[in-house]
Amino acid sequence: MADKSFNAFAMAQQQFDRVAEMLGLDQATRDLLRNPDREFQFNVPVRMDDGSMKIFRGFRVQHNDARGPCKGGIRFHPQETVDTVRALATWMTWKCAVVNIPLGGGKGGVICDPHHLSQREQEGLCRGWVQQVAGYIGPVQDVPAPDVMTNGQHMLWMMDEYEKIHRGHFPGMITGKPLGMGGSEGRTEATGYGVVYTLREALKRKGVDIAKTTASFQGFGNVSQYGVDLYTKLGGRAICVSSWDQADQTSYTFKKTSGIDLQELQGMADRFGGIDKAKAKAAGYEVLPGDAWIEQDVDILLPCALENQVNATTVKKIGKRVKFMAEGANGPTTPEADEILFANGVYTIPDFLCNAGGVTCSYFEQVQCNMNYFWPKDEVLERLDAIMTKAFHGVADLAEAQNVHMRDAAYMIAIQRVAEACRLRGRV
Ligand code: NAD
Repeated sequence: MADKSFNAFAMAQQQFDRVAEMLGLDQATRDLLRNPDREFQFNVPVRMDDGSMKIFRGFRVQHNDARGPCKGGIRFHPQETVDTVRALATWMTWKCAVVNIPLGGGKGGVICDPHHLSQREQEGLCRGWVQQVAGYIGPVQDVPAPDVMTNGQHMLWMMDEYEKIHRGHFPGMITGKPLGMGGSEGRTEATGYGVVYTLREALKRKGVDIAKTTASFQGFGNVSQYGVDLYTKLGGRAICVSSWDQADQTSYTFKKTSGIDLQELQGMADRFGGIDKAKAKAAGYEVLPGDAWIEQDVDILLPCALENQVNATTVKKIGKRVKFMAEGANGPTTPEADEILFANGVYTIPDFLCNAGGVTCSYFEQVQCNMNYFWPKDEVLERLDAIMTKAFHGVADLAEAQNVHMRDAAYMIAIQRVAEACRLRGRV
């Protein structure tokens, strides 16, 4: 499924260059912001269960910290590349800026497939990753979080290793921790719910009743599941999700026109969000090819799996009825596809605005850790909704006023905020 010719970082730079030009940014600011401030690439040796040593390749990229400590997840993925990590770190800078939280952008990763690693081997990988960058991450420098195929347990192993090295308690050094261990209520829901808060506002702006809409989701992981959850609670009908099938090494779409049942599908999914085909078929789901999610006759598409899913080829498969796209994943749409979506009048909520709920809640987690006082879930979600709603309308207002893509408007706001912080600090 991974397209080797696709370079996420080239795409992130292309998006930046376009808006830098629109804003008339000076050359020094362009040079500073189109490349990361710092990058770490390193080996992580892990003793495997069979006694052998295996060397994994790890990354941490710090794109920009002018507005606050770098913030961004760590992905465990067999196709991870440093360019993907660079792109994601860059997008984190814009993401934190567009929702106006005092953080910069970072991202990390390890080339590995956790499906084939025992818990003990994964623990070794987490601890080894921290050992390599312990001097450069931390509550006031760079704060990691979970991302694709990493979770709260991974974060706790990483925190424990960091605290052993630095001899103290530093719960604000990492987010996405389990509840009761410095985690925040609402963090699990935050990204998926945030996606739907922005979608809800987009529909309101266009005078569409969410209860009369249908949607197709790509992916069935954290973002997609909570996206389906809130979208359904608000009255929408989700008819498709898709997921990666580890045994077949391909993805499948699971469809039920009357509306999928989230809890039923959750009962058939492994911990990585892969859905069991046989059980789904028995429960009345159509099992279709992986890319079928995009060609459904729905009002809303929600790519919530990987980057480069809506590209020059797949964009042609999008049905005429689709009028909204909420990008739960990072970088799901290429610039070529973006132009076509804009021309076709598809209202796109760009990734770094749409999926900023996760980092916003991570910011809340840090704030709560620093106070050592934790808010109830309702309060977390209320604050999250307020931030997402305000950020969404700020972008939508600018897009309308200047008749530009939502993505360009979001970039304009974010880049201006970061450029101003760099200027005030005397970095440009
Ligand atoms: P996850 O690991 O929980 O789930 C990923 C899902 O995608 C799984 O259901 C998996 O089966 C599916 N998948 C993997 N490869 C696929 C393929 N080729 N085709 C179809 N489905 C495939 O990950 P997540 O946390 O839900 O993240 C999904 C996306 O959202 C990523 O782009 C991530 O960077 C982005 N994101 C996540 C968060 C967060 O808080 N989790 C925040 C912001 C952005």
